Amino acid sequence: MHGKNNLAWQVKQSAELYGVERWGNDYFGVSPEGNVTAKTLTKEVALLDIIHGMIERDLQMPVLLRIENILDAQIMRLNEAFAAAIANAGYTKPYRGVYPIKVNQQAQVVEEIAAFGARYHHGLEVGSKAEMIIALSILTQPGSLLICNGYKDDKFIELGLQAIKLGYDCFFVIETPSELPIIIERSKSMNIRPKMGVRVKMVSKVSGHWNSTSGDRSIFGLTANELITVVDRLREASMLDCLQLMHCHLGSQIPSIADIRSGVIEACRYYIDLAREGAALSYIDFGGGLAVDYSGANSSDNQSRNYALEEYCATVVNTVKDTLDREAIAHPTIVTESGRAVVAYASVLLFNILDTTTFEATHQSQPDKNDHPLLTALRNCSENISAETVERCYEQVHHYRSELRDAFKQGKVDLRSRAVGENIFLDALHRMADILDDMSEIPACMSGLKLSLADIYYGNFSLFQSLPDIWAIDQLFPIMPIHRLDEEPVRQAVLADITCDCDGKIDSFIGQREVAKTLPLHPIKVAEEYYLGVFLVGAYQETLGDLHNLFGDTNVVSVRLNGDGSFDFAKEMHGDTIADVLTYVEYDPKRLELNYRNTAERAVQEGRITAAERQQIIKAFRASMQGYTYYEREH
Ligand SMILES: *Cc1c(COP(=O)(O)O)cnc(C)c1O
Repeated sequence: MHGKNNLAWQVKQSAELYGVERWGNDYFGVSPEGNVTAKTLTKEVALLDIIHGMIERDLQMPVLLRIENILDAQIMRLNEAFAAAIANAGYTKPYRGVYPIKVNQQAQVVEEIAAFGARYHHGLEVGSKAEMIIALSILTQPGSLLICNGYKDDKFIELGLQAIKLGYDCFFVIETPSELPIIIERSKSMNIRPKMGVRVKMVSKVSGHWNSTSGDRSIFGLTANELITVVDRLREASMLDCLQLMHCHLGSQIPSIADIRSGVIEACRYYIDLAREGAALSYIDFGGGLAVDYSGANSSDNQSRNYALEEYCATVVNTVKDTLDREAIAHPTIVTESGRAVVAYASVLLFNILDTTTFEATHQSQPDKNDHPLLTALRNCSENISAETVERCYEQVHHYRSELRDAFKQGKVDLRSRAVGENIFLDALHRMADILDDMSEIPACMSGLKLSLADIYYGNFSLFQSLPDIWAIDQLFPIMPIHRLDEEPVRQAVLADITCDCDGKIDSFIGQREVAKTLPLHPIKVAEEYYLGVFLVGAYQETLGDLHNLFGDTNVVSVRLNGDGSFDFAKEMHGDTIADVLTYVEYDPKRLELNYRNTAERAVQEGRITAAERQQIIKAFRASMQGYTYYEREH
């Protein structure tokens, strides 16, 4: 299993092994030199070249790399796919996308979406006053929608009404009946006609992680009864013409197109009846849900999706058209709030490997007449391993090894003998693993063998800060080395992060057919960095992260690829310093330094260091305070 190096290994085998083409959405590839490349234009750019540029700019690993062109391209694909579906179906109203800020609130990302989305009138969706403030200051083009979800207090509503005065296409989506009186009262007293939507509670159940967003017990949306109450209240207030939008959200990452179709049908039924009740509806908003195929399996698993973007758009458009045409209801403008699918592809977490632990047998000792009988028993077993005996030998070596450990505990076996025994044991396991490679079916009792021999690669990143969904919901992201793909990756490894928390590990990977417990990697080389990339991390990961062990925000670099194969560093942001993260948990860096100065001063008084040494010590303390929270290399 380990160490067999195939000289004829080809980069396309690496591409196949890591599935780049299955999950990369045409944005990532492998170059003939064995580097992962980003491609949106005619020429590809190696991520390794971008890393070299970072090092020249003193941007240390880990770095979150954003590729602006990919964000642009995803907005374009979404809008163009809806436009094509609308043209094909003969649908009579346009599509309007809105980007839900919560999915990635970072200023660069939202600004980029607004700028590039302007030519499609791509708007924004907000769920709080803070997000509303972002939207109001960033959406400067007329014609884009501003959809306000979430609980809205007086101030929130006032902001929205003033925005309408300024010409924004701002909609209040009523999530709970209690919002309505405030909207009615405020708009009357400010003398502004509001634009309103209602969020309906969907009964359609969808599969996937976030299926509780739908169904009877969903915490969002109005029940049938509440909808009728809202309609009646609006009619009484002579404001039924303000109710122009119907909103629903089935959940995020919906893997099955059948679930999407049935959700759209249910939404249309609400739409039809609300229109018949007299609401002046002209927008239907399906929320999020457009999934990302993280595993590349093109299936209805949670980590995947069984449809392409074009199919999603065609399903939404055709289903709305068919359902409404049958009831002779005019076509509304179709709105979706895709977040994940828009931003996931554009970000890659890059980090270096700091160290590895392997579980190899080291020195082989010769049998000795004074050997403890358990060592002799282990040796005999080990010599007997063959395809026929492998299962029995596997049990036996475990048995003798545990006897050996017991004997050690009782003082009957010394440390040196135990080390010899552990070595024989490990050597036997490796030879058994080699035999398994050639077997068509792995015996059930041996299914954990490979994992127990896997290397541990220690990565310079914090799972809790940069990849919280791996920890929280067992999300899978594509992970692979970004260089050396012209070499066969002969090691099998799990990844550990730098937090030293036992949860800070990754041991589920996208395999070729199913989820794999180990990731094939290359042996690390002395004095040469080994870089891995975690892909498709642009959605939800950046702001859900926490300060576990006080590892802070990573450095962030935004690049723009040029058509000629060059690239520009569009933006760079240095991550948190140690002083920054200490401030987050209410320490005062100045005060900390003062304490340390005083301690050092005492050491001077007591004659343990000189005043000059004290200066050096304080300088180093201060430099650390301003340094990166991750493992820093001296370049
Ligand atoms: C979270 C959320 C979205 C985004 O969903 P994605 O599946 O990420 O596209 C859209 N609308 C609402 C109301 C949401 O809560």
